[in-house]
Amino acid sequence: MKQATRQAKTEGRSAGFVPTMGALHAGHLALVQRALSECQPVIASIFVNPTQFGPNEDFQKYPRAFEEDCKKLEDAGVDYLFAPDPSEIYPPGFRTWVNVESLSDRLEGKIRPGHFRGVTTVVLKLLEIVQPQKAFFGRKDAQQARIIQQMGRDLHLDSQIVVCPIVREPDGLAMSSRNAYLNAAERRAATILFRALDNVRNSISRGERDALRLTAAMRDILRTEHLAEPEYVELVDAETLEPMTRLRGECLALLAARIGNVRLIDNLLIEERDGTFLATL
Ligand code: AMP
Repeated sequence: MKQATRQAKTEGRSAGFVPTMGALHAGHLALVQRALSECQPVIASIFVNPTQFGPNEDFQKYPRAFEEDCKKLEDAGVDYLFAPDPSEIYPPGFRTWVNVESLSDRLEGKIRPGHFRGVTTVVLKLLEIVQPQKAFFGRKDAQQARIIQQMGRDLHLDSQIVVCPIVREPDGLAMSSRNAYLNAAERRAATILFRALDNVRNSISRGERDALRLTAAMRDILRTEHLAEPEYVELVDAETLEPMTRLRGECLALLAARIGNVRLIDNLLIEERDGTFLATL
């Protein structure tokens, strides 16, 4: 893997990398398309990383579709697929962990202790193995993207971290490999996350700037769906991930909810431009 990207570098080309856990959907493939438009060669990885799952989470039953994934990546025009075995990434005696402090303890990290330590450790290892000029991540996992960007900054990584837009189903549900777990009633209920965020976007365009009122409105909307059990609903500064009381600069409205046994997350990016706020789902 290192040889392939080293070769590209000596030829003046820049390698692009799209790390995934497989069970690929249009969200992953949009990252691949973006990488193909900016880089050559493009490397994708499929690795269901055991260390980012908690003991009671879905590591064993996480959707796996290796053959279909290979076909999708090949059809898309990916140059290399890196699909290591867990024993290669975590051989016996493995001891080194990367932790991005404070950003990893909030929101997802609070509900899933140790999750981001697993994510940052595996992403650093993958970046070291693949050595890409650019690595592409989705804003679907906004906290993850922010933490990886911080790791890149703090550790002087050579790879540029590129964050790409959220790809949604026609009814607004953010695409996710875990959507496959939803039954028909849950699938209908799952759009409540999008609807709560869309309502915030409309309120912002009507001039609402009070973060507490906006989060209260999101909670109210989530409460209307009896299949949804909210885990957190927050409006935070996009840099620090700390809650804010009034919109300012770049912020994120972040939601996590359980629909039946399925945990879903979604978010809205809110950016201040010349005194007006632009909200992007
Ligand atoms: P995963 O396979 O879930 O670990 O995701 C691999 C990458 O794809 C991560 O950078 C995710 O943020 C990104 N991703 C997953 N779902 C979407 C989506 N609906 N839109 C954009 N990016 C996504």
